[in-house]
Amino acid sequence: MLQNQYIENKTCRKTEWKISSSQFSKLTKNSIRAIIENLQIEPNPDKQLIPLSIGDPTTFGNLKCPPEVVTAIKKSLDSFQYNGYAPSTGHGAARESVAAYSNKINGTSITSNDVILCSGCSGALELCINVLGERDKNILVPRPGFDVYSTLAGGLGIEIRYYNLIPSKGWEIDLIDLELQIDNNTTAIVVINPSNPCGSVYSEEHLRDIITIAERNYVPIIADEIYEHIVFPNEKFVSMATLSENVPILSCSGLSKRYLVPGWRLGWIVIHDRNNLFNCEVRKSLQSVAQRINGANTIIQGALPDILTNTLETFYTDLTSFLYENAKLCYDLLSRTTGLKPIMPQGAMYMMVGIEMNYFTDLLNGREFVEQLVAEQSVFCLPGECFNYPGYMRLVLTVPTELLKEACERINEFCTKHYRLKEINTIRDLDNSF
Ligand SMILES: *Cc1c(COP(=O)(O)O)cnc(C)c1O
Repeated sequence: MLQNQYIENKTCRKTEWKISSSQFSKLTKNSIRAIIENLQIEPNPDKQLIPLSIGDPTTFGNLKCPPEVVTAIKKSLDSFQYNGYAPSTGHGAARESVAAYSNKINGTSITSNDVILCSGCSGALELCINVLGERDKNILVPRPGFDVYSTLAGGLGIEIRYYNLIPSKGWEIDLIDLELQIDNNTTAIVVINPSNPCGSVYSEEHLRDIITIAERNYVPIIADEIYEHIVFPNEKFVSMATLSENVPILSCSGLSKRYLVPGWRLGWIVIHDRNNLFNCEVRKSLQSVAQRINGANTIIQGALPDILTNTLETFYTDLTSFLYENAKLCYDLLSRTTGLKPIMPQGAMYMMVGIEMNYFTDLLNGREFVEQLVAEQSVFCLPGECFNYPGYMRLVLTVPTELLKEACERINEFCTKHYRLKEINTIRDLDNSF
């Protein structure tokens, strides 16, 4: 009986299995993964692999979240108060604690109504892009830069446009280039400060210049501040939102990096909009879009007030001192390496190193440099291509100091070997020319 009905309706039904994935999913691409998957990564079997490639501070086990944080999670779990759904934007007390934290460390004056909890900082950025982005409109992002933005925007048909950073000026934004990229379809400017991959930390003056450009072009800012306050001794982090009189800013941050728990997936958006230029609409839309996944992990939300208030000051200063010492060590060793041009960072967890490819004539390009470095020395750095910036490689600084030193020494040995090849080639070239 049932079978007959199907046959009668055959014309308007499928007649075979044909399952395809959506256009959205096909246009969603992770450029870092794509590049790494295409690299030939075969370490030298005689040397232990030192991966300076993974932007996860927990990889080596030397950096651990503060004990107060562990206690906070246990308490949250034991209370049985945080096993159910929270409001999509987060529990009130948790949002309140983020507002208090932001007001304390950044000097803002926001309330819990300005906070939306998200699944990691990426979740926060996804919300921002879903709300401010639009098909055929564009969002400006830095080059070089951590490129989750093109992953988030690709499937939605949002154009990602790159503005340049200037390595010789501590990776400041090329303000002329930034403004040239803006047109009336530009719906947001993304600023990453402190920067991944550069480790740069912008001065108040530079941030003001960026805000001025945003203001005269009527474009809101998405401030990716996941590395807020991870700055080296004597450097200062300034939250963009504290400088803006008029330009609406969505500040995105979270626990992942500063508390060394990227797997916990808790981030947030803080909405700064002094003159209500978002006009309630954007706030409402952020809330609606947050409802798509019923919000962030509630166990972490339950622990959030304790995490943000009980962590001892020494935890933060120990972390930044460790990163600073590693950065100095790495910078010193690589500065003395022929053919490399490291750029000293001021914060975050990374260092960019320029590769003077014309000195390594036996290596075709930066990608081959990185592959050959793994093959010979078992040291793996991410090629600049992962951040849309060929000619450089990124090193992570969260590695145990001894291991980082060893890695730099091996990089040095590698460069010395290949740099010499150039001289031999030059002599050969000369010979040939006679
Ligand atoms: C790591 C990182 C993120 C993502 O953080 P999660 O909280 O793990 O989602 C976002 N932006 C930048 C610049 C990062 O380096």
